[in-house]
Amino acid sequence: MPTRADRHVGAILLAQQCAELGARCRTIHLITGLKPRELQWLFFSDPQATPRGRAPDSPEWYHSANLLHRAEASIFSSVYKRLRSTGFAAGEALVSAYRSYRSICQCPYRISFDRAFDLASHTDGIWLAKCPAFSVVACPACNSQFLAAFGTVACSNDECLFCRLVQRFGTDQRLQRSFPTHAPPTDAAGTQMEMMALLCHAEHGADGDSGRQ
Ligand SMILES: [Zn+2]
Repeated sequence: MPTRADRHVGAILLAQQCAELGARCRTIHLITGLKPRELQWLFFSDPQATPRGRAPDSPEWYHSANLLHRAEASIFSSVYKRLRSTGFAAGEALVSAYRSYRSICQCPYRISFDRAFDLASHTDGIWLAKCPAFSVVACPACNSQFLAAFGTVACSNDECLFCRLVQRFGTDQRLQRSFPTHAPPTDAAGTQMEMMALLCHAEHGADGDSGRQ
């Protein structure tokens, strides 16, 4: 049975990981329950280094974001949901899924830690959200998992971001030049991995969408 001290130390260690990943004070407060004043003192003593700006609002943002932003949000969310379904607590799942996302995609990351927190909140209906606004659904064609409005049932691949990226590859010569050895993937994991590679390289002008987070 963990003592109060064990739980407090655990919360501080989790807070430290969140801070290292760029979380703002309010995000860490909501994840760990530690008081903002304590978090300020521990992690945000340098005002110049304190994250600022408007907090993300993903239910509004996601549906108008460009394809690559939504694909990266989906990569994070599919890992997060998988960890949650295997019994990870929300805070640990968030940190692990965000690290996993950053190991897959390359800097500059389109999804900030605060954005990931916001996505997780609105996928699980926790922290910032009273009820879920997103579901992670599997594409019936390529089996990749992507984020969609809550309750969406994917009967076709019309909404699948990864199928759309593959389709774009077929007609976009700039993408083809980026991936001269690309071959159509043969399984679900292959599709998502191909697309992850695509995401990493699309930064160099191959993306037809506009706008940055
Ligand atoms: Zn698909």
